[in-house]
Amino acid sequence: MADKLKFAFYWAASCGGCEIAVLDINEKILDVVEIADILFWPVAIDVKYKDVEAMEDEHIDVCFFNGAVRTSEQEHIARLLRKKSKVLVSFGACAVNGGIPGLANVTNREEIYTDSYTENPTTDNPDGTVPLLKTDVPEGELTLPEIYDTVHALHQVVDVDYFLPGCPPPPELIVKAVEAIASGELPPKGAVLAPAKSVCDECRYEKSEKRINSIKRIYEVEKVEDKCLLEQGIICMGPATRGGCDARCLDAWMPCTGCGGPTPNSKDQGAKMISALSSILGIDGEVDMEDPETEEMLDQVRDIIGTFYKYTLPDSLLKRKVM
Ligand code: SF4
Ligand code: SF4
Ligand code: SF4
Repeated sequence: MADKLKFAFYWAASCGGCEIAVLDINEKILDVVEIADILFWPVAIDVKYKDVEAMEDEHIDVCFFNGAVRTSEQEHIARLLRKKSKVLVSFGACAVNGGIPGLANVTNREEIYTDSYTENPTTDNPDGTVPLLKTDVPEGELTLPEIYDTVHALHQVVDVDYFLPGCPPPPELIVKAVEAIASGELPPKGAVLAPAKSVCDECRYEKSEKRINSIKRIYEVEKVEDKCLLEQGIICMGPATRGGCDARCLDAWMPCTGCGGPTPNSKDQGAKMISALSSILGIDGEVDMEDPETEEMLDQVRDIIGTFYKYTLPDSLLKRKVM
């Protein structure tokens, strides 16, 4: 048998779901073990950073990196794994576009510390103690990584070869990516390892030219299973989101929240969705943002950033709130 490939997995600012997604490929995990040795996977095997530092450059064939970059430790490991890997795959929405941790870009470290450690009704902290980079204790010096003000997507920190979107990436896309790696048939560098179509293209719900007069939440409408949710006034990010998940949320009668990231050739998922929404609002002529009717309708969106940029704020044209 030919030499086995060498894989690495890492999690940075991540919920851990992408690690579980690797196991969601079920018995196919046996195929992965058949073709590859896993040299580094902090959640599953006891390998230290110093072991990675001791490897030759490009010793790892493929590194799957999930999670955004928001601390000095994560940046250090992103740079280290970039150096030690021939191919770096940005795995999951947090690594690809900043993801849900990226919503922290509406604030900064100081405000997060205040909310978390001092001005918090369930925290008793009269001395206002917050995490320090260095703390002297009798046994020596303890250190913590620095938390950055701004959360970044992986490609904003290091050069990335491929992008595997989703929160987490669907098992079918993971399997296809591993098969492409095993057969040496990866697309050109920079490719997104997901179909070049939108979630709407994969959705089985009936679509029409219907316009809407109000924006509703899913619990405010009567369940009609075969009708486009957007046309019922529910914000569904399908038109602005890359497919590959087979519109799986829609099958559970839940709107798409956009985890597949922007559609191909779209720089800003939120802006594309706002544009799509504007085109079906029941307003005659061009959308006039000063028009009280338009304003009233957009006021019905409870959380603009959380709705339109839930997974992509750091990688959007906005990037972060200016503090
Ligand atoms: S992409 Fe989703 S599942 Fe993966 S780490 Fe981020 S939040 Fe978790
Ligand atoms: S907007 Fe949502 S419900 Fe409508 S077709 Fe697209 S994915 Fe389906
Ligand atoms: S329907 Fe949307 S939110 Fe749900 S998995 Fe697909 S891309 Fe993600």
